[in-house]
Amino acid sequence: MTSSDAPTFTLTRAGDRLELGGRIDERSQLADLARTITGGAITLDLAAVTYINSLGVRDWVSFLRALATAGVDLTLERCAEVMILQMNMIVDARGSARIASFFAPFACDACGWEGSQLVVTDQVQPLLAVGRAPETPCPECQQQARFADFVDRYFLFLSA
Ligand SMILES: [Zn+2]
Repeated sequence: MTSSDAPTFTLTRAGDRLELGGRIDERSQLADLARTITGGAITLDLAAVTYINSLGVRDWVSFLRALATAGVDLTLERCAEVMILQMNMIVDARGSARIASFFAPFACDACGWEGSQLVVTDQVQPLLAVGRAPETPCPECQQQARFADFVDRYFLFLSA
């Protein structure tokens, strides 16, 4: 998929819970969104984000800063891999947000399945602390699928 094929940005809001999806770029109006969030605790679901370009990252960082300045208690949930990759490259792309859960790449040696599976930060961190990578049941054959990236690279954002 090329960047121009990426779906447009979507925003769903239900009270203090927001879901961002599709493509985050300079047209996503994150600054406008930030202005509507004035405090309290907010949960942002990032599972459906499929693409973020460099201008999108810039706006995302500004968005996090605006929320931090407003004293918003921000939790990021179900972060898509594209967002984790940005957080690993740019410390400010995580900011001071709490990351409750996120997607990570796994592969199954038994059946060849590869894909993204949700992991919970509180469950992964104790494993990483003792030098282990998370595993997950393969959705195809139920064998244990192994983590399919470099542990010291993919989980870097958790130590920031
Ligand atoms: Zn399998």
